[in-house]
Amino acid sequence: MPLRATYDDAPVIAPLLTDAEWHAVVRGAGEGRALRMACCDAPGYGRVASSGLRHFAHRPGPSPCAVTHGESIAHLTAKAVAARALAAHGYAVTTEAAGDGWRADVLGVRAAPRGVVRVACEVQTSAQSLTDTLDRQERYRRAGVRALWLMSRPPAHVPSRALPIFRLAWDERTGAHHVTPDASARPAWRLSLGTFLDALLGGRLRFSTHLRAQGEHEITTELREAACLYCRAPCEVHLFRGTLRSACDAAIPPMRWRGQERAAGFAPDPSWYRLPAAIPLGDGDAPHVLKRRRHDAHGTIVRAFACPSCGAELTAAALRHHLFRRPPTRVATRRVTLTAPIHAPAPHWCLTTGAERCAGPGATP
Ligand SMILES: [Zn+2]
Ligand SMILES: [Zn+2]
Ligand SMILES: [Zn+2]
Repeated sequence: MPLRATYDDAPVIAPLLTDAEWHAVVRGAGEGRALRMACCDAPGYGRVASSGLRHFAHRPGPSPCAVTHGESIAHLTAKAVAARALAAHGYAVTTEAAGDGWRADVLGVRAAPRGVVRVACEVQTSAQSLTDTLDRQERYRRAGVRALWLMSRPPAHVPSRALPIFRLAWDERTGAHHVTPDASARPAWRLSLGTFLDALLGGRLRFSTHLRAQGEHEITTELREAACLYCRAPCEVHLFRGTLRSACDAAIPPMRWRGQERAAGFAPDPSWYRLPAAIPLGDGDAPHVLKRRRHDAHGTIVRAFACPSCGAELTAAALRHHLFRRPPTRVATRRVTLTAPIHAPAPHWCLTTGAERCAGPGATP
């Protein structure tokens, strides 16, 4: 059941016709004017599905159309929504458009400052493997087409800019589609297909390699007292807690941002510490119990707590097993304004409402 036909040899796309144009085509075809299916050039007629969706159908003939046979109303509806969204964003739209090695459900073409932009919308209601999807995406890429995949059963994959895959769900009862990001559970957004395409084409939904937190956040600092595992001297260590929210409102739990607090400009109140600074830091570190540690396996400098008496490093394992089992001696929660953004690697399709958005370290969002 296609959306495209030719009427008196001019292409017509059912969901893009005005009411008057649609009625004129239906009436004209009924009075014997030429309405031919774009898929196979067979005679067709205008039809309205029970959901109200306008499309074209083949006149009863000896054999079903080999090109568009078996297309469901869900598939057809998604194509119609995509056609309207692309048209609303200034694209010249063709449905069921074929090129060299590809056939797009909906194709939009638009002139842009840096050349012509071609966008294909593929609606996939049956399962398609990642290999096949990559293969088809490559054929589109070679043809200069940016293809977008709306799949009811997406293959397992890592979200990427090169292969935009989204999950499409059809609600039989309401006759509407919803789109959710696939593969990444964070952030969790759910949009009607029309709203989704509007956000994507309008630039409010963009790919980002990282979650990025900026601005004000609530941070809890915990101070704990313990004995050094080596010399038994008293030690004090602190821990920051608090789930940061990315620009797209995804949660970034402490384990995903720890280590960036110095760069982001938050530190515990030095007056908390009773113990004198026995270890010279030499690199301006605060608080006094943090010391510079050797380069780790990846060649980056990591900082660790050290015993102020003997200087022994309090390893992560020691902290976990011996210190953090005890309740904290002091806890303070305050609003902290990050002086630099905090990042957590998480390839995702970032949907924002405000001016801030996610981006990788060093990238201007
Ligand atoms: Zn046909
Ligand atoms: Zn010690
Ligand atoms: Zn984001």
